[in-house]
Amino acid sequence: MRYAIVVHGGAGGTSPEAEQGCRRAAQAGAKALRGGGSSLDAAVAAVQWMEDSGRFNAGAGAVLRLDGATIETDAAVATSAGLQGVVGAVRDVRNPVLLARAVAQETPHFMLTGEGASALAKALGLAPHPGPSARALERYRALREAIARGDASLLGAGWSEPMAAKLMGLLGGDEGQVPHEGDTVGAVALDSAGMFAVASSTGGARAMLLGRIGDVPFRRCGYQVGVLGGVAATGIGEEIMRREGAGKVYQLLEMGLVPQAACEAVVKLFPVNVSVGFIALTGDGVGVAANCPMATHAIVKG
Ligand code: ASP
Repeated sequence: MRYAIVVHGGAGGTSPEAEQGCRRAAQAGAKALRGGGSSLDAAVAAVQWMEDSGRFNAGAGAVLRLDGATIETDAAVATSAGLQGVVGAVRDVRNPVLLARAVAQETPHFMLTGEGASALAKALGLAPHPGPSARALERYRALREAIARGDASLLGAGWSEPMAAKLMGLLGGDEGQVPHEGDTVGAVALDSAGMFAVASSTGGARAMLLGRIGDVPFRRCGYQVGVLGGVAATGIGEEIMRREGAGKVYQLLEMGLVPQAACEAVVKLFPVNVSVGFIALTGDGVGVAANCPMATHAIVKG
């Protein structure tokens, strides 16, 4: 394989628009690879494309927290050459994936969160967040309505009705009725030098308190990368962390499973009511599996 990239648009929902977005993002990544860029350039370019599109729950399209006013995002980049940078609960940044890359390449740190991460973005001149998209506002209204009804089913795995009832005081905004999709983004790429890279970015999963950080910035949970390949996870972050999802997929690759079989096996470890999906890439091929709709696109040059 000369180079390859696979991207996902999140576990939990898909549409022709999301499928097209994944194709365009994969093309942006493949363009970087064709031009001699590294797998890191490619994975970041794909994720940045999706963050900018506003169509996905990442970057410009990220959903609101329960307060109805705040966007907090998580992102990660990592390569098989040992580079790693992650950010959590970052406000006011349009492209958290660029900030994660900056943490890796322009600081001695591995993870930055909250205020400090936003301050670094400002110091580096990264674009500020444009504010909640129309879709993010619609989703928030739907969530708020579900909580007002005491209906925990729309809130995502882990939320019970008594918990939902206690949330009322944390809410803001109006009521509405739009179902939530989990359409966060990730990419895994391989370059002609044999280096793998993973990049992921998310506005989070369903109902989230301020300060909540999901699986995305945690190695072996939201992502894993090594000399054998790379893995990115999507779905309910708490459940992915509980089971160390991406790490388990990678372990199966180490045991000799092909990426498709490894992704499918780990999806089966999750209850069916917990949306989850994985993408994986090795020198031998691509794996894509989810227990719910998930937009993906892969480009492989052999
Ligand atoms: N895993 C992400 C999170 O929990 C959300 C997603 O992938 O849809 O933050």
